[in-house]
Amino acid sequence: MLNLFLFNGGKSMDDILLMLPGPTTVDPRVLAAMSKAVVNHRGAKYGEILTETTELMSKVFQTPNKSYLLTGSGTAAMETAVANTVAPGEKILNVVGGKFGERFMKIAQTHGIDAQELAVKWGTAVTPKQIEEALDADEDIKAITVVHNETSTGVAAPIEEIGKVMKNYDALYIVDTVSSLGGDHVDVEKFGIDVCVTGSQKCLAAPPGMAAITLSDDAWKAVDNVETNTFYLDLKAARKSGDKNPPETPYTPSVSLTYAMNEALKIVMEEGLENRVARHHKAAKASVAAVKALGLELFADEAVSSATVTAVKIPEGITDADFRGTTRDKYGVELAGGQDHLKGNVFRIGHMGCISYKELVQTFAAIGMTLKGLGAIDDAGAGVASITESYL
Ligand code: PLP
Repeated sequence: MLNLFLFNGGKSMDDILLMLPGPTTVDPRVLAAMSKAVVNHRGAKYGEILTETTELMSKVFQTPNKSYLLTGSGTAAMETAVANTVAPGEKILNVVGGKFGERFMKIAQTHGIDAQELAVKWGTAVTPKQIEEALDADEDIKAITVVHNETSTGVAAPIEEIGKVMKNYDALYIVDTVSSLGGDHVDVEKFGIDVCVTGSQKCLAAPPGMAAITLSDDAWKAVDNVETNTFYLDLKAARKSGDKNPPETPYTPSVSLTYAMNEALKIVMEEGLENRVARHHKAAKASVAAVKALGLELFADEAVSSATVTAVKIPEGITDADFRGTTRDKYGVELAGGQDHLKGNVFRIGHMGCISYKELVQTFAAIGMTLKGLGAIDDAGAGVASITESYL
């Protein structure tokens, strides 16, 4: 019988360290904010908190445009982005190099949009040239979707460089920053992003259940020309309610999650966006070095590896269930598995949100002890030693 209490300092199973690419550990300040009294969502008090939260959201997106909160997960924002800007029968080009690129394909197909795929090998990133060639080859493409941080593979797409290409085309530039906003460089205005979406439970370190979206003037023009075939995610309704004084949401929002987002975004701004991004990059670099120090192999092409999640090949001869089961049940560290065809072959370390060397030391201790226990490596401490060197 495993005794987690032995390894978890007497703390219960509830005290598992989440090293997932979302949800991430939520700051006690954010949890406390959620316990405030629920107010009337059609009243001045909620209007105030909504205004402040959406303004903070725009600062984090780095856009002068308004942001909108959606009660729903990141996928709700992805669907909102696509369904409101591209009409059924029109063409959209989706970059697909992992699970979330695939999701954009499915969303577009669900809405009767002509979904074109720009396939890139999982573990590699699309290049601006590929986008340019695809747009040159088909002038009917109304919008492209790019997943900034493909969480399933641990790859970051060059969204700034793609933005430069997009300036030469009328097609809208839709970017999913669900697992990168607040952890990697995202400057909506500077990069020329027309529609940017994100979620609460990743680098912003709020609980799951909220998403956000911001749109450029060009994107709003498209919204006005598209007969949306979604009711709950209708952006015209979101805009109408958001323009009220005090602002509202069309339907009942999660008031408590709005408090949580408000507090989480304040924490992001207190740290400073640049500092926060630098902290994530440092954690990514340290994680990659520690993975190598343990003799493990990265899944993603290192040149384009993510600032917020590191995907690692599971060594031959051990199973995902044994590996991640042991890090979680024996050592109190929860890692993510692979998705789709990577299931059983890859594990993923989410180093996003509120993390530093402390969490990485614990994580790599758990990985090292587990792998040694399973007979896959000899030196259980090599990863931890590497982390300490990275943070000296
Ligand atoms: N996009 C990316 C890049 C993600 O990592 C995720 C979630 O893992 C999503 C979209 C979907 O978000 P959600 O699971 O919150 O719907």
